[in-house]
Amino acid sequence: MRLVIRQDDLKGIIKMTERSAVEVCGFLFGRREGNDFIVEEIRFIPNRLNSPTAFEMEPLEMVGAIDGAEERGLGVVGIFHSHLKCPPGPSGRDLEGMMLWPVVWLIVDDRGNYGAYVLGGDKIREVEVKIV
Ligand SMILES: [Zn+2]
Repeated sequence: MRLVIRQDDLKGIIKMTERSAVEVCGFLFGRREGNDFIVEEIRFIPNRLNSPTAFEMEPLEMVGAIDGAEERGLGVVGIFHSHLKCPPGPSGRDLEGMMLWPVVWLIVDDRGNYGAYVLGGDKIREVEVKIV
């Protein structure tokens, strides 16, 4: 299983992370091809918690973004968010989110590190990120 993402998209998420005092979050829209999750679009969603240590996507914006992507033939392949001053691995809170949203979770930090994860059963697995 791989997450395939354009360098500009990944850089865009990291740049927003560096500029933001709170966690940034949003969707990775795209399609699945075999074992590859191919990101065609990234979409930032406001973090309604406005917190440097947690995020919750604004629900109305979530729905609007998903509807818009579906109209363009794209689905949710992943969710991204940032960690500030802590490594890009899933927190306990993220694990709960992963149970609700069983897609690829891309986490970046404010130093340019990143990792992608999926939940398999109750275990977190790291997913290869292929930058194109
Ligand atoms: Zn997190």
